[in-house]
Amino acid sequence: MIAAPLAHDGGGTYLLAVTAEFAAAHCLRHYGGPCENLHGHNFAVEAVVSGKKLEPKVDILMDFKELKRLLGEVLAELDHRHVNELPVFQKRNPSSELLARYIFEGLKARLADIPQVRLVSVSVSEKASSKATYMESGN
Ligand SMILES: [Zn+2]
Repeated sequence: MIAAPLAHDGGGTYLLAVTAEFAAAHCLRHYGGPCENLHGHNFAVEAVVSGKKLEPKVDILMDFKELKRLLGEVLAELDHRHVNELPVFQKRNPSSELLARYIFEGLKARLADIPQVRLVSVSVSEKASSKATYMESGN
């Protein structure tokens, strides 16, 4: 039991992570294997945000529900799509790496109004044993 009260927000950093899924088809040009053929995944996505300052009284960094809602807005652009057909993926491959970056950039823009929260990373998994993560330089 901590004897002292939890005064202030502490000197550390709070990390929040939410997960979501979307279902989509893609193909990877120039892959040199079966992934060049059109196929689909239930992609799993994890977004991590950080911050040091909690909202007064409620003592949360941000509402998990709001973070999930914003992530869901970005994923709605990809869900049940053949993602190679989206303009952003007509020249670059919708690999897990670039899907993570695409989702990162969309979520970052949506978090711009919440100054106490910074987007740390977005990860995309095609299956449970592999995951690609995008984060900005300097982390
Ligand atoms: Zn694939």
